[in-house]
Amino acid sequence: MFYFSNVDGKKVLKSDLLTGVEHFFTTRDCCLFSKDKDMSENRFFIEKYLGQRMVTNQPVHGSHIEKIVSDKFFYEETDALLLDEGKAAFMNFGDCVPMIYYYNHVGMIVHGGWRGTALKIAVKALDRLKADYGIMPCDVKVVIGSAICCECYEVGEDVFETLQQTVRDKSAGFYKADDKYFVDLKEINYQQLKNSGVEQIDVCPYCTACGEGKDLFYSYRHSHTGDRHSAVLKV
Ligand SMILES: [Zn+2]
Repeated sequence: MFYFSNVDGKKVLKSDLLTGVEHFFTTRDCCLFSKDKDMSENRFFIEKYLGQRMVTNQPVHGSHIEKIVSDKFFYEETDALLLDEGKAAFMNFGDCVPMIYYYNHVGMIVHGGWRGTALKIAVKALDRLKADYGIMPCDVKVVIGSAICCECYEVGEDVFETLQQTVRDKSAGFYKADDKYFVDLKEINYQQLKNSGVEQIDVCPYCTACGEGKDLFYSYRHSHTGDRHSAVLKV
């Protein structure tokens, strides 16, 4: 279950699946990335709260995963960050699916847009946890944050069919009306994780482009803003 909390009085969203783990999703209350404004004050707030500097990345809708090393704080062309040994990171989102993975002081933040979802980045992240730490999917907890919903996310037939190839259940997360095609990226990533043996997953109900969520988060499709909300994790 997701619930609202605050970081120094700024509203954030958290999941009770990760109780005891320092993690949250920022809202419009605490933007960490903007194309137009300087957000260093908000970043400073959070780093002060966490007691350390955060790593971040340049997402490119690929499936490249970087393991954070102690002397590097920015990772180019990377859509998943792997953290251990008390490190902290944030990643920015504006409709795509934010995923936080955690097990025993090892964690990941994963960026799942349609391209990353088609490349099964969620599953590649699990493979990496197994390869580097011997962590099995059944032990990993995954929290899927707010992202654009099915009704708000129309795609082309080719994208629809490409994404259908990535899951066993070809109906959940897919909707077709007349000649229009819609996909639910949160659901498709959820299905990929389930198909790979993850048992503990919490999915955020908010859409970034409609309902209550559109006033809490940023949507590239809905408002074409250069602002982003962020997923934050400290292991
Ligand atoms: Zn929506």
